Amino acid sequence: MQLLSEGDEPVPEFLKVKTAEEIVEMVRSFAPLEAEIVSVQEASGRVLAEDVTAPEPVPHFARATMDGYAVRARDTFGAGESLPALLEVIGEVAMGRPAETAVRPGTAAAIPTGGMLPDGADAVVMVEYTQPLDAHAIEVTRPVAPGDNVLQVGDDVALGEKVLERGRKLRPQDVGLLAAIGMEEVRVFRRPRVAIISTGDEIVPPETRDLPPGKIRDINTYVVASQVREAGGRVGTIQVVADDLDELEAVCREALAAHDVVVLSGGSSVGIRDFTIQVLERFPGSELLAHGVAIRPGKPTILARLGEKILWGLPGQPASAMIVFTAFVRPCLLRLQGVENAGNLETNVRQAELARNIPSVHGRADYVRVSLSNDKGRLTADPVFGKSAMISTLSKADGYVIVPEHVEGLEAGTLVTVHLFSSP
Ligand code: AMP
Ligand code: MG
Repeated sequence: MQLLSEGDEPVPEFLKVKTAEEIVEMVRSFAPLEAEIVSVQEASGRVLAEDVTAPEPVPHFARATMDGYAVRARDTFGAGESLPALLEVIGEVAMGRPAETAVRPGTAAAIPTGGMLPDGADAVVMVEYTQPLDAHAIEVTRPVAPGDNVLQVGDDVALGEKVLERGRKLRPQDVGLLAAIGMEEVRVFRRPRVAIISTGDEIVPPETRDLPPGKIRDINTYVVASQVREAGGRVGTIQVVADDLDELEAVCREALAAHDVVVLSGGSSVGIRDFTIQVLERFPGSELLAHGVAIRPGKPTILARLGEKILWGLPGQPASAMIVFTAFVRPCLLRLQGVENAGNLETNVRQAELARNIPSVHGRADYVRVSLSNDKGRLTADPVFGKSAMISTLSKADGYVIVPEHVEGLEAGTLVTVHLFSSP
């Protein structure tokens, strides 16, 4: 690649401009990382690498779902307020233990919610529909049908039933299901290790006191590291590197060796101080998948593969970097963790009513930051206008609205899809 040739005007040019959809398509084609085994306690948020079938039914004994009396349903047929059924009480079912005696014709056993149905019984009469006659007998004032107020064996989960599918991101309730069927461990996809590198001679660590003129505190490594964690990635190396080709190459080489994904920020454009592309050219076998994405902000975005490793170059402007991360890097990290529909535009979104007009220029997809507020039960999205260098506007925003390439602005009152920066 030649950016400047002698006698020529500099003609900054992106090498491989892709649409947002094309980038998401590429990300979806990435293979998940290998699987590993984790304890079910640690499994929430992880993605299943195998289908899970139930090795036992739930419940594995017939359980009462109400406090009352275990009975033979036919003994209550025809019972009513005026002609109650009279049953002998033969005992009480203890919680967590099988009943000591079976329910024979004309008898009943007191049973708590969750208690095990005694042999012979096929239904539970709610305590509300019984009257004690004396210590050993009750009147039943409503009939029950077989199975009433009982959870049968396998009603919740059948033996051998496929309960969870490969690719499912486990939520707390899924972990509960795994616990219910007695799983101690599950196979999930490995979480990607991610190196985060910020580039720029002007970038200094946030703890710098008496900020020298011309320098700015590093924002991006902090935002990106937080976003990586939110997306389930494991943050490894975090480093700030000056605009120095050799140094950047050395740092990238080390980062690529020890991580699955390297996320650079800054230096991804086509200026003379933008070294990411030149670094990639020094790595034999690197494959540049995208240089430039047709969105604004965020155009100077790089996506490259180096064997199994993935390198992202994000624009340096904090708002651009965060938008590009949300739109592409986050789906990439989810895909590596085995999520099937990573980058699905229907996830992580909210519908809201636009509070003000958004002007937009025909011919590019605008990603406009918005803040969400709840106005008497109606969700509204208010555009947060400001340069993409402004971190305060980013902090005010909850997500972005996409004004498609061939649309010239959106009017106040339009129902829009807000892509959230953070998971709801
Ligand atoms: P670049 O993409 O390197 O041309 O950077 C674009 C703009 O983003 C410049 O004004 C940089 O100073 C700024 N920038 C780059 N990296 C960071 C960072 N880590 N934190 C805050 N601003 C940054
Ligand atoms: Mg720079």
